[in-house]
Amino acid sequence: MDIGNIATAQLFTKLITGNPNTEKINYLQTASQELKDRLPMLDVIGERAYELRKFFNGIPTGQHFLILPERIEDRIQMYLYTKLLSEIDKVSLQTTDLEKIASYLYDHYEVRTFNGDERLNIGVFDRKKRVCRFCGRSMPDVKFTQKAHAISESLGNKGLVCREECDECNARFNQTIEQDITRLLQFFLILKGIKGKNGNPTLQGDGISIKNDPSSQATLGRSTLVLKVPTMPDTHDPQEIVQHFSGSFAGFSSVKYIPQNIYKCFCKYVLSVIDSKFLPYFKGTIDWINEAPTHHRLPPVWHYTVPNSTDSPYLIVMQRKHKHKNFPYCWAILSIAGDQYLFIIPFCSLDKYKFVGNSRVEFFHQWLKNAMPNINLQPMKLHGIAPTSLKINANFNISPDCVEGRDYYFIKPQKPSK
Ligand SMILES: [Zn+2]
Repeated sequence: MDIGNIATAQLFTKLITGNPNTEKINYLQTASQELKDRLPMLDVIGERAYELRKFFNGIPTGQHFLILPERIEDRIQMYLYTKLLSEIDKVSLQTTDLEKIASYLYDHYEVRTFNGDERLNIGVFDRKKRVCRFCGRSMPDVKFTQKAHAISESLGNKGLVCREECDECNARFNQTIEQDITRLLQFFLILKGIKGKNGNPTLQGDGISIKNDPSSQATLGRSTLVLKVPTMPDTHDPQEIVQHFSGSFAGFSSVKYIPQNIYKCFCKYVLSVIDSKFLPYFKGTIDWINEAPTHHRLPPVWHYTVPNSTDSPYLIVMQRKHKHKNFPYCWAILSIAGDQYLFIIPFCSLDKYKFVGNSRVEFFHQWLKNAMPNINLQPMKLHGIAPTSLKINANFNISPDCVEGRDYYFIKPQKPSK
């Protein structure tokens, strides 16, 4: 159903949660008696209320239903939600177009989803029996005292933990590949207000810095983006200020990352969550992740966005069910700050091909397009090993309906007292 404007959205939120100011509505909902008792509040929207009331009354009390963003373009995710729901309520899925498309995927792959907002500890509980997934060592050669996040904590993952990563590997990854992924995505993490281990991060460029300050949440109901710049024009005219700032986002060239480290990090996350019985097939992948940056021919990595995607990270891991070597054995979708990254795990011993040549890549790409017809896959350049400057494609703009003192304000630095 379509939720047209803010008032309707608030009404809808109130209907579902009982509170109009709730910011988040969970995907998974229960058709409770309380919800049904709230249905008369829909009458203010006139005729459309009838359809809505009929819809909600049609769900048996106590059964679950899903609320999903308006445009469901990520069909895999949609299928997973629907499947989850059918399992919870123990009803069989009706054959739909969606399922036909998803079967495209399920015929070939075992699919597992890992959500960053769920608590899940992966690996052996007993420290003495743990083997580090990345260096193969155990106690007493290495220690397992640090909490190793399966997806970096800086990307918003709170709940997914890999027990089988030793303190040494944890520290090494923190200072290398994980640092690079944080640098590359910091801007988006800040825009979305995603916190890391040390709270809200600051992206520091050449004379410019940007930070998300949540302290205004309590009074304004939204957080504040704080942009610090070295000079300000002597004016409060929005257009002149915008003019002055144009090109400011180019000022992050001193922030550098190694592109291939991003790809390594993506794969490291997958190896942190999969069942350890599969790890022997990924020995080549682990060696690659551990080595110093080296030139390789690597499979492509794609990027895409799905409207209204959740900000908390999730990882969907696909493992091939059969021996058909035209398909890569393992590939995955990682979602960070609402953006999706799709990649093949390279150097797997179960792959006959490397998926680097045009025809192999094109075969897989075409198959992906069939499985996810509305997704626009954009290739990313993540093979390079030279430190690369951060480039942010963003414009600074003050919309005409924004009011100084309400939507934005200027703060002058205080002169240090003598
Ligand atoms: Zn280790």
